[in-house]
Amino acid sequence: MFFERVAAEDARCPGASPMARIAVVGAGPSGLATIIALMRRLHRPFEAWMIDAEDAPGAFGDGPAGEALTTEPARDLSVLPERPDDFSRWLKDTLLAAGTVSALRGPQDIHVPRALFRDYLMARFGEALSQRPDVHIRTIRGTVRHLLAEAGGVRLAFRDGEGAVFDHVFIATGFGMAQREAASWREAFAAAARLSGQDDPPPLTLVGNGPRLAAILLDLRRRGFSGAVEVAAAAGRLPQPHGRGHEGMVFGEPPTSRSLRDAFRYIRQECSIAEARHGGQWQTVVDAASARLSVVWRNLPQAERNHYRRHILRLHRHFSVRLAGDIHRRLAAEFESGRTRFVPPRDPKSLDETVIDCREAPSARALAGLLGRDVALLSAGDCGQLLSDGAPLRGLSAVGAIASSLRPGPFTFAETVRQVYRGVLAVPLSGHRRVSNG
Ligand SMILES: Cc1cc2nc3c(=O)[nH]c(=O)nc-3n(C[C@H](O)[C@H](O)[C@H](O)COP(=O)(O)OP(=O)(O)OC[C@H]3O[C@@H](n4cnc5c(N)ncnc54)[C@H](O)[C@@H]3O)c2cc1C
Repeated sequence: MFFERVAAEDARCPGASPMARIAVVGAGPSGLATIIALMRRLHRPFEAWMIDAEDAPGAFGDGPAGEALTTEPARDLSVLPERPDDFSRWLKDTLLAAGTVSALRGPQDIHVPRALFRDYLMARFGEALSQRPDVHIRTIRGTVRHLLAEAGGVRLAFRDGEGAVFDHVFIATGFGMAQREAASWREAFAAAARLSGQDDPPPLTLVGNGPRLAAILLDLRRRGFSGAVEVAAAAGRLPQPHGRGHEGMVFGEPPTSRSLRDAFRYIRQECSIAEARHGGQWQTVVDAASARLSVVWRNLPQAERNHYRRHILRLHRHFSVRLAGDIHRRLAAEFESGRTRFVPPRDPKSLDETVIDCREAPSARALAGLLGRDVALLSAGDCGQLLSDGAPLRGLSAVGAIASSLRPGPFTFAETVRQVYRGVLAVPLSGHRRVSNG
């Protein structure tokens, strides 16, 4: 088989030193951050396959999806954890060099088109690669169907019957195959074009309640689609805007008890104290409380974790992933205009071509299916280490949005970056051989 043959050829690479074999499944922002972290922190020769079902690395920055603004300001989008202002600086230098602007104050506060964020990630990817002559990267198009632990490592089984074995696999499959972003944009444009040609068209229904829904709806309006739009969302609320931010909040010790109820009681209590003391906005309180929840999380029994996953996670995500203020205002105006309204949830998989799936809910069940494990036994640690019934699944980590299907976060890019660096440092492959730093 082709992949088996490629793997065998790679193993016979001249130069003799054994290469660690790593796969990163998913080439979205989390997969790219992982591969950059590997090149900067894994100090031994390795071969990495970057596998995506459809998208080339960085494809989230292509076409109309790339014109949509990032939900987070530039200050929160650095891919280098030791340099939080890296993206702001890159942005300023790039825009000045291109002559796009002659002076740029406060680049850290800007929400940029995602194409620019993609260019930044690809630039850092290229720089890291140029520092690592001992690293071999392949980008592969293929849909991973199963991940099976075996004596020599983790076997990746592809949908077309191919397979290959790796020492370590990072799963960065984000919103999965059922909710791929490119499909949402494509189908929304096609449906809008069809409806615009009809005399008395039914409404266009967009299912979802997050940044993807906001970006697609506003883009359709910008392109002149004037038909009625129904937004089908269980919560029936708009995505939330960013707050003003408030540094330096102080929290008390979390409870030692192993109960989610106690954890939330503690968080509520800390929120009230913080709000009273700092006059903080809910956004600041939610962020600080979320950070504390991951501390509490380590002591929670599996039944409590499952309760969180089933009943609280969706709401937690809704209040943690936020839009730029301007996008939120335009969205609110759109609903006030009466052309767009909320309706009860609908099945996005119906055959009705006027119903478009714009959801962004990473599915723990899909992850469990990929691993052939019982979802009720699965959990993920701080570094993305996957566990089943409390026991580590050797050679497997989940990073980025897909990891947040099992635990509280990461919900922001900075959290994802911290997680992937911790994950890379935690893999037992981190040998002793030194190479140049990126
Ligand atoms: C308008 C807008 C603005 C946004 N702004 C931000 C922002 O500022 N910060 C931020 O962090 N996020 C932002 N996002 C979300 C962001 O684009 C990512 O989707 C999100 O961060 C999750 O990234 P990810 O890499 O974990 O997953 P994804 O982006 O979902 O990527 C996962 C990849 O895995 C592939 N895949 C899935 N299953 C398989 C499989 N079985 N086999 C092979 N490949 C598979 C998919 O094809 C996909 O390319 C924004 C989204 C939108 C719509």
